[in-house]
Amino acid sequence: MTDWKDKVENMVYSGRIKVPYLWNVGKTGSRFLIAIRDNKEIWGTRCPGCGRVYVPPVKTCGECFVPTTEWVKVSDTGVLESFTVVHYSYEMQPRKAPLAYGLIKLDGADGAILHLIGDTDFAKLKTGMKVKAVFAEERVGSIADIKHFTPA
Ligand SMILES: [Zn+2]
Repeated sequence: MTDWKDKVENMVYSGRIKVPYLWNVGKTGSRFLIAIRDNKEIWGTRCPGCGRVYVPPVKTCGECFVPTTEWVKVSDTGVLESFTVVHYSYEMQPRKAPLAYGLIKLDGADGAILHLIGDTDFAKLKTGMKVKAVFAEERVGSIADIKHFTPA
C-alpha cells in the first residue's frame, strides 16, 4: 500500500529565527560578572587537584571532576593566542564589521577566553602580542562590561 506522501518530493526550507532569551549564569557566573561590573576585576577558579585556573570560572574541573572552590584574581592583561578579523556584517555580531575576535590567555589563567579586540589597526594584530582589557564606562553585569581587549 502506498502512502500519498511517498510521491511527494521532500522540500527543505532554509530560514533564520531570532530568539531572545534569558539565561541564569548561576552563582559562579554571577560572582564573575559582578567583579567585572563593580571592581573591573577578572576572577577565575582554581582546581585543587591539578591547579588549573579557569577563566571564566567553572564550578567543577573538567579534567579532575572535583569542585573548584578557590577563587583567584587574574590580571586584566594577557597574550593574544589567536584571532580572526571579520569583514562581513551580520545582525547578530556585537559590532559592525570590520571587527576582530581574539582568544586571550590572561596572565594568571590557564586556557583562553574569547573576546573582541578593539582600538587598534587589525592589520597589526599578531599572535603572542600582549593585550589589555578595556572596561566599559557603564557596566551592567555582562561580559560586554569588558568592552574589548587592546594591544598593551
Ligand atoms: Zn583539575
